[in-house]
Amino acid sequence: MSDAGKIIAAAGLEQLVRLLRARGFEVWAAREQAEALSLQPIESAEDLPRGRIEAAEAGKVRLVASGRDAYFDHTLPMQGLKRLVSPPEERLFACGEDLVPHETPPAATPKAVIGARPCDLVALDTLTQVFQDGPQEDRRYRARREALFLVAVNCARPAATCFCSSMDTGPRAEAGYDLALTELYEPEAHGFLVEAGSAAGGELLEALEGEPASAADRQRALAVSEAAAAAMARAMPSDVEGLLKRAYEHPHWEAVAERCLACANCTMVCPTCFCGTVEDRSSLDGATAERWRRWDSCFTLDFSYIHGGAVRKETASRYRQWMTHKLAHWHDQFGRSGCVGCGRCIGWCPVGIDITAEAQALADALPAAKEA
Ligand code: SF4
Ligand code: SF4
Repeated sequence: MSDAGKIIAAAGLEQLVRLLRARGFEVWAAREQAEALSLQPIESAEDLPRGRIEAAEAGKVRLVASGRDAYFDHTLPMQGLKRLVSPPEERLFACGEDLVPHETPPAATPKAVIGARPCDLVALDTLTQVFQDGPQEDRRYRARREALFLVAVNCARPAATCFCSSMDTGPRAEAGYDLALTELYEPEAHGFLVEAGSAAGGELLEALEGEPASAADRQRALAVSEAAAAAMARAMPSDVEGLLKRAYEHPHWEAVAERCLACANCTMVCPTCFCGTVEDRSSLDGATAERWRRWDSCFTLDFSYIHGGAVRKETASRYRQWMTHKLAHWHDQFGRSGCVGCGRCIGWCPVGIDITAEAQALADALPAAKEA
């Protein structure tokens, strides 16, 4: 195999699906569901939302025709890769009348994701830092992460809610993939540059039918990423970490709270939000008991319940907590931002609250706040 990658025809995507299935992977990708994109298993490349693109704005995401039959003009499914490594709800153990807990083993079916986006790869790395490489390893997470094969797609047409360029997480994948595809949609040819990022990816690349990529092919692929970066309409203000650390008492949080429903949608769709809670459930006759873990959100009142009361009773304090943790204190905790610029929280917020606009509002207002 050449380290420079291969050029495959557009029809080669079907061979990629077949090769992955032959290696025992359940193949997942973004599929169209109710005019949106949902991360689901696929049987064939025919299941991909070819020729579709998101019309996204604050508070609205809808798939529309892209005007050409490219496979990957769309960007992100509503869910990130989080649900594959940390499911929304899972049983940890169960016990009967003998009160001996029996662990429920994690379902770690080998899964291959076709179309993982650069920002989602960085988000997955962020989760791995927390669950796998931190002081308390989550064995369930590790089993699922190790069973993942990731086929990245470098973005060609960012959604209007994307801002990965300003977070340095895209639109081109730098690491964290087994294979990376760049779709080359040109009048005379439609195909993909396929590059390997791991030994397993290299083995699969060998098996794919195609031609060794030339320097000119790689240059065409780079041009796709450069055009995508140039087309990005949103950006996070610079030094947002320092900005938020100075904005703790700013009245703008109250203004956001007048619109925010504290519905937790933003945390559910966020690919890096990892908070969860643990519940014990027992049968009515007391014969069995189970322990479950499920996703939780800092937007719920119960989330900050300690010593007889909730610490964050007001919506303003919950929104401040979420945004300040993501963009500022995550740096102190994990040495990186908790936001990868995917824009999901903007599109899926029912009232259209935009994290980049709120950061910009604070940036605009803060000099006045400092003088006061
Ligand atoms: S910011 Fe939007 S999505 Fe998040 S809790 Fe408030 S209303 Fe819900
Ligand atoms: S905070 Fe919003 S834009 Fe940032 S990673 Fe989470 S969902 Fe994506």
